[in-house]
Amino acid sequence: METNLNLLLLEDSPADAELMIEALRESGYDPTVRRVDSKDAYLRELEQPPDFILSDFSMPQFTAQDALKLMKERGLDLPFIIVSGCMGEDMAVECMKAGASDYLLKDRLARLGHAVTQALERKRLVEEKRQAEQRLFLETFHDSLTGLPNRALFMDRLDRVFLQSRRQPAHLFALLHLNLDGLKMVHSGLGVSSADRLLIEVSQRILRRIRSADTLARMEGDAFTLLIDNLKAMGNATRVADRLQQEFATPFTLEDREVFLTPYIGIASSHTGYENGEPLLRDATTAMLQAKATGRAGFVIFDKAMHQQAMARLKMEGDLRQALDRKEFRLAYQPIVQLQEGRITGFEALLRWQHPEHGLTRPDAFLDIATELGLMKGIGEWSLGEGCRQLKLWHDQFPRIRPLTISVNFSIQHFTQDHLALLIKHVLDKSGIDASSVKIEITESEMMQNPEAVNRVLAEIKEQQVDTCLDDFGTGYSSLSHLQQLPITFLKIDQSFVRRLGTDDDALAIVKTIIALAHQLGRQVIAEGIETAEHLAILRSLGCEYGQGYFFSKPLSPEDAGTLLASARRW
Ligand code: C2E
Ligand code: MG
Ligand code: MG
Repeated sequence: METNLNLLLLEDSPADAELMIEALRESGYDPTVRRVDSKDAYLRELEQPPDFILSDFSMPQFTAQDALKLMKERGLDLPFIIVSGCMGEDMAVECMKAGASDYLLKDRLARLGHAVTQALERKRLVEEKRQAEQRLFLETFHDSLTGLPNRALFMDRLDRVFLQSRRQPAHLFALLHLNLDGLKMVHSGLGVSSADRLLIEVSQRILRRIRSADTLARMEGDAFTLLIDNLKAMGNATRVADRLQQEFATPFTLEDREVFLTPYIGIASSHTGYENGEPLLRDATTAMLQAKATGRAGFVIFDKAMHQQAMARLKMEGDLRQALDRKEFRLAYQPIVQLQEGRITGFEALLRWQHPEHGLTRPDAFLDIATELGLMKGIGEWSLGEGCRQLKLWHDQFPRIRPLTISVNFSIQHFTQDHLALLIKHVLDKSGIDASSVKIEITESEMMQNPEAVNRVLAEIKEQQVDTCLDDFGTGYSSLSHLQQLPITFLKIDQSFVRRLGTDDDALAIVKTIIALAHQLGRQVIAEGIETAEHLAILRSLGCEYGQGYFFSKPLSPEDAGTLLASARRW
């Protein structure tokens, strides 16, 4: 079979050209030939590069060496064979050095076909190697999904820019760390391939908004970084962040649904004394987390205080992870008072952390972090076990005080991840406490994060004759119709309303309504945050069943709670 060959022939003698073409045909080539013999014509032909160039050594206007040089200057690397009437050894070597693939004497044209085949083969091998190297580079330094640079390439570029800025202190650059909220939901709701498609679209949207000189990388999952080099002024980095944010104000469309992603952006600038890029990336990440903590789309610029905060937080996380094993958690017990008779009928168990350096710590300081770290399950199990163990001691010690119940707080993690009802059964069996002595609390706002799941678990708990209580009621925006379906026994009015009783008519109206509503639905009411005799008097008059608050007692250690029980105190 004949092989097509798009050939450019530099030859001033038509007869010699014909001989060469003939030689090629005899070797199985079917050449398409363009013949030129002047520099200008040659340059014109190079506009559409051929597969191959055969060149006479010297023509009236220019030589093969000139032709080689001109070809290289145009960035071309075509197979180029010199065919000459007579050429010395030295000249041949010169031509090979200048980039010729081979050379032949005109009286040896029988070799031409073979030489062309060899040159084409060499060219093919070089091209294959180049492509393999390029593939390797792409795979090693790029994210296979979006095609963006990956962490390795990004850090390499960052380090280079760093070096440059150290040589030229006026050189400004900024690093943006961008995290997208909402992607995990797409992942779990619509599946991996939808999330992948979304990520590709996200990267394209960002690319449209930045200069080609800037480096956008996908670091992992929903985290992108952007290196903005050669900034005229640092303020321009915030302008880029603004633009990116606007870009996300428009929803993405996935399977006919509109999907909104919230971008959180942290910015770190080159005004630092660092040696390389790594700490700068850390700073941008810290600032991004700060932006995320606000819960609103936006950007935050890193400052030094943030680093200290981040370090403190890191230490806290480490300590918290070990707190259970080190038995550093305690329970404080706040009495719950039956209001008509004014006597204690139970306690709410409130978590405390005996921190080795900071001392006794209240839950506000660590619950959010424990939740983020996924520790609430373990903590909940411990609280329930410990609360029941303590109650059993009091039951034995004070057989005449009945009912005497324990209320334990649980977080949404426990409701959605675990068989809470099973756990309760297990703990009750182990501690020898009957089900009616235990109450499980969940706050209204946590319940609202996943009403269906909470509803289901509350029903399972109720089946075991364990009472449940909706905590901080009035702050979580649950609807009244929803409340009717919820299998709960108690509503606990949030202390923000109770505290305002006596000074604020609105608060009084709200408390009145909640109590009336609860009673109509067959629920009982606990008021928390009773701090004064007036609060107590009002709540009594409204028919509220139970109360707790500093007026009766602050949360107490187990010993102090025992002493209070022994005193048989009444209010
Ligand atoms: P909560 O369950 O609504 O608990 C009532 C909070 O109000 C407690 O704060 C208590 O000390 C405080 N308090 C009680 N009476 C008064 C009063 O008269 N005035 C004022 N100003 N405050 C009063 P604490 O112990 O800091 O607990 C805060 C929140 O932490 C709790 O709110 C609860 O949501 C959560 N929590 C506590 N222990 C646990 C636990 O073991 N597990 C879970 N998941 N959450 C817990
Ligand atoms: Mg509570
Ligand atoms: Mg509460």
